[in-house]
Amino acid sequence: MKPKGQLFVLSAPSGAGKTTILKRVMQEIAKLAFSVSHTTRQPRKGEMDGVDYHFVSVEEFTGMRDEGMFLEWAEVHGNLYGTSRMAVLEQLEKGIDIILDIDVQGASIISEDDSQDSVSIFVAPPSLQELERRLRGRGTDSEETIMLRLGNARKEMNSAKQYDYLVVNDNLDEAAATLKAVLIAERSRSHRLPSGDPIDLEAGR
Ligand code: ADP
Ligand code: 5GP
Repeated sequence: MKPKGQLFVLSAPSGAGKTTILKRVMQEIAKLAFSVSHTTRQPRKGEMDGVDYHFVSVEEFTGMRDEGMFLEWAEVHGNLYGTSRMAVLEQLEKGIDIILDIDVQGASIISEDDSQDSVSIFVAPPSLQELERRLRGRGTDSEETIMLRLGNARKEMNSAKQYDYLVVNDNLDEAAATLKAVLIAERSRSHRLPSGDPIDLEAGR
């Protein structure tokens, strides 16, 4: 029996550095796919449709939502975001691990879904001051958006203890190494071996 892929859920307050860490780690770990979410948010400079997000209208989004096409969805910072059920399940069936970059509301929906065996990771900034510095330094958001995201960050930080792992993104190299270590360790857990399929000690003889 082919093992199923593992579902990973990654959350962080906006600006904590989740996208930066993930881009590094994705280059270094094989058989790990990124779930491209649907969103009604406007693309930022440099973002590509179908790569960073599927950028859709509110009408398209609500149509998909009403047809049950999202594994989870939420309103975050005034925009709608959702994870395609079919895209995720297809990868897992193929034995490919998949990582969802979703907010704390979406993560809570996935963790309460008994049909999904997921591992959750929270990326935290070293401080709120540093978070603000990073949001401003990124240069992609208006002052109003930055203030909204900082306000939400305080609430999101309170959810950190509900996650399986916490990665503090102070030093980028260390944070990326920690996330990579978590993914590799989780892949090696013995209960992930397909049941009734013992390790073949004679293999390669
Ligand atoms: P998120 O995806 O969590 O919203 P980003 O990955 O876009 O955050 O990072 C926000 C900003 O912070 C970017 O400009 C990024 O280059 C910067 N950044 C990320 N990690 C660090 C770090 N460890 N130290 C300093 N700056 C960082
Ligand atoms: P951003 O607009 O900065 O790309 O993302 C804002 C927030 O939306 C982040 O916390 C991100 O993790 C979250 N997000 C992105 N895609 C999804 C999704 O499909 N579902 C949910 N619930 N949150 C998402």
